[in-house]
Amino acid sequence: MEPTFSPPLHMQRHQFVIDFVKRNKTQKVVDLGCSECSLLKKLKFHREIELLVGVDINGAKVKRKMHGLAPISSYYLQPTYDQLRIELYQGSVTQKDVRLRGFDLATCIELIEHLTLADVERFSEVVFGYMTPVAVIVSTPNSEFNPLFPGLTGFRHSDHKFEWTRAEFKSWALKVCLEYGYEVDFTGVGQAPPGQQERVGFCSQIGVFHRLGGRDSCNMLYGDDAEDMFSYTLLYSINYPSLRDQNILRRVLVSEVLYWAEKLKGRWLEQKRDYSFTLCQTEGGVSERRMEMENKQTAYATEACGAEMCGRGVAEDTERKDEELSWTNVQGQQELHRFVSVPLAVLWYRCPKVSALSGNLTNLKHILMEAPEVKLSQDGSAVLVQDQGFEEKGDCNDLEDSGYAEASQYSHSDEQEQAWDANV
Ligand code: SAH
Repeated sequence: MEPTFSPPLHMQRHQFVIDFVKRNKTQKVVDLGCSECSLLKKLKFHREIELLVGVDINGAKVKRKMHGLAPISSYYLQPTYDQLRIELYQGSVTQKDVRLRGFDLATCIELIEHLTLADVERFSEVVFGYMTPVAVIVSTPNSEFNPLFPGLTGFRHSDHKFEWTRAEFKSWALKVCLEYGYEVDFTGVGQAPPGQQERVGFCSQIGVFHRLGGRDSCNMLYGDDAEDMFSYTLLYSINYPSLRDQNILRRVLVSEVLYWAEKLKGRWLEQKRDYSFTLCQTEGGVSERRMEMENKQTAYATEACGAEMCGRGVAEDTERKDEELSWTNVQGQQELHRFVSVPLAVLWYRCPKVSALSGNLTNLKHILMEAPEVKLSQDGSAVLVQDQGFEEKGDCNDLEDSGYAEASQYSHSDEQEQAWDANV
């Protein structure tokens, strides 16, 4: 009966590589003979990897499914600080290309048996002698296992040029180690039925090579060649969105600030409306009492917004001073607009994501000053969010009557004002 593997053998080979990557935290990985990029598609989820490269002699095969390597939309919506660049090349492992030097890991999964023995020699020199990755994983069929496939005559695949016994694989691997300064461990995937493991070995035999001296003994002789070689053709490349890219960080921070400023404004206005309604109903309200109520209402609204919106406790007294939202008038070309002024300090202290992304208040201010979508107060200490309901309000919420900060604020420049207007 034909041996079946669970999980399937090709998945076991790929899982072997994934486990290695996880254990060794490899950052730069190249898959030689990547075919339709199925291993690369699994590896792209391992965020310790920063550079993922695939090479295959058959460009058409690579192109068939390479777009599956593009980032899905959530990477753009919620980028992290992780970085990933993916590159795919059409080229032969028997030829040198300088872009393949300096990797932590080169994988050659079921590749070498597709090469003639003369090309295996060239492959050894290119991979171990020129690319000199820190580690190399080579998997290839173990011919001693073949009798367990009933009816199999010849090789497992029509394109295979050879299939080695364990001794043949070992002899090639040890020669490579001696010649290029590596050591090797032998293992495999695809267990034989009970009792037969020792006699036939694994279905796929695997050699895991480590460069002697490891990561630090970099024997990369950059510049030792007369000229750098670029023999491969780039088919595809993509940079995953990362917060380490200043443009992306700026975009995420600005949208976070606009979101929270709008939310805080909404809560604050809601609280004000409730209080004003109470005041309107109190016939002949004494002005002193009104002031008192309004003071209370500012503190209350701020606290409610801050604590509820961002999940933080009440701030220190020293911070409280800056933490008051207020109304601000801005004279446009023809009409007066009313804005709610949301201090940057409130946003920074109350919204963890805003503080994490900006690092400090000064940085936040500088980033926002350069963002046309954000309207800042003249001194740059607060975000101004338009109070859309301004015109509709009755006497009760009348601006003249509000008793709140009404110092006229002007935007930084007409240009900025127009740009901002266009965005609201
Ligand atoms: N590694 C893949 C598939 C291996 S099949 C996997 O794990 O699923 C072997 C692949 O090696 C094929 O895609 C073939 O096009 C490629 N190949 C054959 N000779 C090559 C060479 N000289 N250089 C690069 N790739 C080669």
